[in-house]
Amino acid sequence: MKYWKKLSHKEQDRRITDALQKNINYNDNIPIGVPVSKLDPTVFNEHVSFLKEAPLLRAFIQNPNHIGCHTMGESEPFFEGTQELEKEVIELLSVDLLKAKENSCDGYIATGGTEANIQAAWIYRNYFIQNFDAGIEEIALLSSADTHYSVSKAANLLHIRSIGVPVNDDTRIIVPELLDRALEDAMNDGVKYFIVFSNMATTMFGSVDDPDLFAQHLSKHGAAYKIHVDGAYGGFIYPVSCTNSTVNFQNPNVSSITLDAHKMLQAPYGTGVFLARKGLIEYVCTREAKYVSGMDSTLCGSRSGTNAIAVWMILYTYGAHGWYEKISKLQLRTKWLCDRLDAMNVGYYRHPDLNIVTIRAEYVPNAIAVKYGMVPDTHTNKPEWYKIVIMDHVDIEYLQEFIADMKVHHKTEVYAQ
Ligand SMILES: *Cc1c(COP(=O)(O)O)cnc(C)c1O
Repeated sequence: MKYWKKLSHKEQDRRITDALQKNINYNDNIPIGVPVSKLDPTVFNEHVSFLKEAPLLRAFIQNPNHIGCHTMGESEPFFEGTQELEKEVIELLSVDLLKAKENSCDGYIATGGTEANIQAAWIYRNYFIQNFDAGIEEIALLSSADTHYSVSKAANLLHIRSIGVPVNDDTRIIVPELLDRALEDAMNDGVKYFIVFSNMATTMFGSVDDPDLFAQHLSKHGAAYKIHVDGAYGGFIYPVSCTNSTVNFQNPNVSSITLDAHKMLQAPYGTGVFLARKGLIEYVCTREAKYVSGMDSTLCGSRSGTNAIAVWMILYTYGAHGWYEKISKLQLRTKWLCDRLDAMNVGYYRHPDLNIVTIRAEYVPNAIAVKYGMVPDTHTNKPEWYKIVIMDHVDIEYLQEFIADMKVHHKTEVYAQ
């Protein structure tokens, strides 16, 4: 680990206070040309005493705007103090979590996984248009059928078609023959360029796609492609729990990665992460953003710098080892649950490195699904699966109750037969 250490709360407070001081100060050098200010003091009292102990809330009240991407080119000088903390987060995640070479990645704190995924698709669409003179109908998004619906949003917004490849119903792995067939069909239909979304843990199953499988099949068909990894769910889990993971920047097939800090990392909502190898984010640089220093290479425009500081604090509170311990604890609980489901012969899917257990609906009576807030794969048809996500608050005591209810149900069924 090059950067990912543990910092005391006192040290964090000092760094954040320093950073805020390097941003514009609305009490002396008042910039009169920009529509920025701290939160309205007639509404939000900035003199309450607990703010002294709460650097994140102080940042929230100062309200830094992190518009644009800060790992390349110029940025707005008004917020350079806290932008520096964001740059540290991007470098730490690229290098220490996702095995990139130092200073080889760009990135920014996006509003969530959806934005980061659309940002990726937007970059590659423009990449194929600018470099290969591709027509919009010659570009397609390619992913597994278990992919998150944000990919459909990206396809719809960018006017490109989206191809979902079926997966094996038990293993949730893409069926290679069906990938080949999908590629053949698409290419016969005029598609030459593929934007691949490879999942580093799907939302419903926690299954992980192999980016190299996509690469091999696309190369075999002579297609041009770029691979984006959607780690919105698994990005803070899988690289830690699977020590020999190849889903990272060491893998030359991987060009960019989405992470979501408001899922496993428990950051405030509105906090995703977009990371890409250098030289890519420029494809969505909006040169018309003339009033923004350094212009804007992000999808969202103005965004809160406080979210970046929240990620910074979480990462430095745990440190790499602390985070590993937290993930390991969740893995142990997940195993505990799976062992009990096995003993009852309940059918489920679980990726061995993830903390999602997706149970076949036929084993879960509706009353139990409702009582425990299990999430179905569909709200419009009859569900086929119900999932359990082992988060921090899902402790063994609670899982014990669930298992006890499941036992009663399954025994009753056996006796009835
Ligand atoms: C949650 C999720 C998203 C979307 O993230 P939001 O933060 O809700 O925008 C995208 N992909 C996967 C795999 C997810 O789990």
